[in-house]
Amino acid sequence: MLFSQLSSYFEKLEATSSRLALIDILADLFKHSSEAEIEKIIYLSQGRIAPFFEATEIGMAEKQVAQAIASAFNSTKQDVLKLYGEVGDMGEAAMQIVRGPVKSNPSRQGSLFASLKVHAVGSPSSFATPRKKITVSDVFEILTQIAKTQGLGTVEKRQVLLSDLLRKSDSNSVRYLVRIPLGNLRLGIGDPTILDGLAKAKLGDKSKRKLLEGAYNRTSDLGLIAKTLWEKGLAAVIKLQVVVGKPIRSELCERLPNAEKAIEKMEIVSVQPKYDGFRVQIHKDGDKVSMFSRNLENMTHMFPELIEGTLKQIKTKTAILDTEALAYQPESEEFLPFQETTKRRRKYGIEEMTKTLPLKAFVFDILYKDGKSLIDKPLSERLVILKQTLIINGTLIPAKTQTVRDAKTLNIILEDSISKGLEGVVIKKLESPYEAGGRNFNWVKLKRQQSGELNDTLDCVILGYVFGKGKRTAFGAGALLVGVYDDKNDEFVTVSKIGTGLSDEEWKEIHKRADKIKVDHKPARVNSVIEPSVWIKPEIVIEILADEITRSPIHTAGAVINQSGEKEPGYALRFPRLVSFRTSDKKPEDATTVKELIEMYKLQNKK
Ligand code: ATP
Repeated sequence: MLFSQLSSYFEKLEATSSRLALIDILADLFKHSSEAEIEKIIYLSQGRIAPFFEATEIGMAEKQVAQAIASAFNSTKQDVLKLYGEVGDMGEAAMQIVRGPVKSNPSRQGSLFASLKVHAVGSPSSFATPRKKITVSDVFEILTQIAKTQGLGTVEKRQVLLSDLLRKSDSNSVRYLVRIPLGNLRLGIGDPTILDGLAKAKLGDKSKRKLLEGAYNRTSDLGLIAKTLWEKGLAAVIKLQVVVGKPIRSELCERLPNAEKAIEKMEIVSVQPKYDGFRVQIHKDGDKVSMFSRNLENMTHMFPELIEGTLKQIKTKTAILDTEALAYQPESEEFLPFQETTKRRRKYGIEEMTKTLPLKAFVFDILYKDGKSLIDKPLSERLVILKQTLIINGTLIPAKTQTVRDAKTLNIILEDSISKGLEGVVIKKLESPYEAGGRNFNWVKLKRQQSGELNDTLDCVILGYVFGKGKRTAFGAGALLVGVYDDKNDEFVTVSKIGTGLSDEEWKEIHKRADKIKVDHKPARVNSVIEPSVWIKPEIVIEILADEITRSPIHTAGAVINQSGEKEPGYALRFPRLVSFRTSDKKPEDATTVKELIEMYKLQNKK
């Protein structure tokens, strides 16, 4: 496939406001993809050349990309940056340089363009015709070369590679080629929508996505799934197993109101403290250790002490451990608050932070050992294997685990956990397998009961903002329209408008972030009755506390048409207030789901 064809698909994907259209466009794209290309097309559609969990970054700074554009089209870096400043998107700026002024807005674009020093032979639009037929594979190879370039002269070499590629491409391709190295492609397609597209293209119907989900939960690698499906068929996808180095999608917790209900439902459980840090899945393959966050980001470089600990304390050749990492002082048995631990999620100053704020990883599960997946074995067996595998005394600490069959004991353990500064406990069905990507009653979290408010916060995604009156107008927003995630339909549905609990500083911060991701139409994966003043791409996750969840006809979260064809109201938050930004550790798809919201609604009256 030519890259210009792929770019036309990108253009269509970007323009649509309908999720069903997203799936159709993707299915059409995939149908036209060959065995040799499908994997590359999947990664490129995500703006990458490797799955998200691989640390491979094409990473170029704005100034470098501007220089590459300037060299490709005989302009200057300053002029490119100036145009970028005006249009707000480097891809758009590059496309305009290639195409010349946009006719629809002649006065603005014309004056802008006139100020550019384009020294090309003939008119600027003479760049519009592609010089050579560039294929998807050509682009993939050059982007890979850019990513792999290292050492002395890296900046220049990358610029030359990119500008050569741009020079050979048509204007629409240029728009997307510029965005990829900036990590800014953002077509707004979620993984489930890609799976829908694959299912529709190859298995005839999007509902067949279910057949691909097991492999996705075990490997998290959409490219691998697509390649296997194209080359070997569905049976081979279903057989795809856990691979060391590819993160397994995390098992998550359900909620229950109290210890009594938990024992009634789960009978015999294994109880562990609920450590309040962040989830780290540790993979050991010989002397290579890699680590992944709950949302599948590669965190290997962030925690050198955990790499060292793993190599010292795990002697088997291969292993995958599920852990929660946090700052902990063993001498005083003191758990540091989440706000401290979270300072360790950083790209720079790692060595120093390792000394001032060392982490421990509390290991609560083992999912793989000596070349074999353990996820189908019952928890009781996995815990025995963990005990045999982990050498104690070091950075990795086995999570304290107790087997309990009565509510009284469970309550005592819960109280004890809370008094130690922990969040509560996680209770797990002793005989349950590890359900990758699952959130069900195999794992349940129990937290402290608080009256007057929900006993758990919600992670919501900002979908837009509504202009306000008075003081806040200065920041351009009076309320944020926020939503939760509907994982079945891979879309974001509204649950609240929130205006209180935000300081002036926070408004400014939101504004700064939101302005970069403003869009002129409702994003395809957003489902809302309310029309905010400004739509933004669903990317910013905030943690919200509310007093209560109520039913509401104006929100789309949980709103359904019932069997008699009547519209049932959605769910909304009463007295919502902002607790924190979760952008660094949660993707929009990790936000609270509609299913969770409804369960929280049912639970609130059962305390
Ligand atoms: P929260 O915001 O309350 O942490 P969450 O949506 O991030 O919720 P939950 O499913 O509510 O995730 O809780 C599971 C999380 O708790 C896990 O992802 C993990 O990071 C953390 N955790 C802490 N201790 C344990 C444990 N012993 N077993 C499993 N998970 C644990």
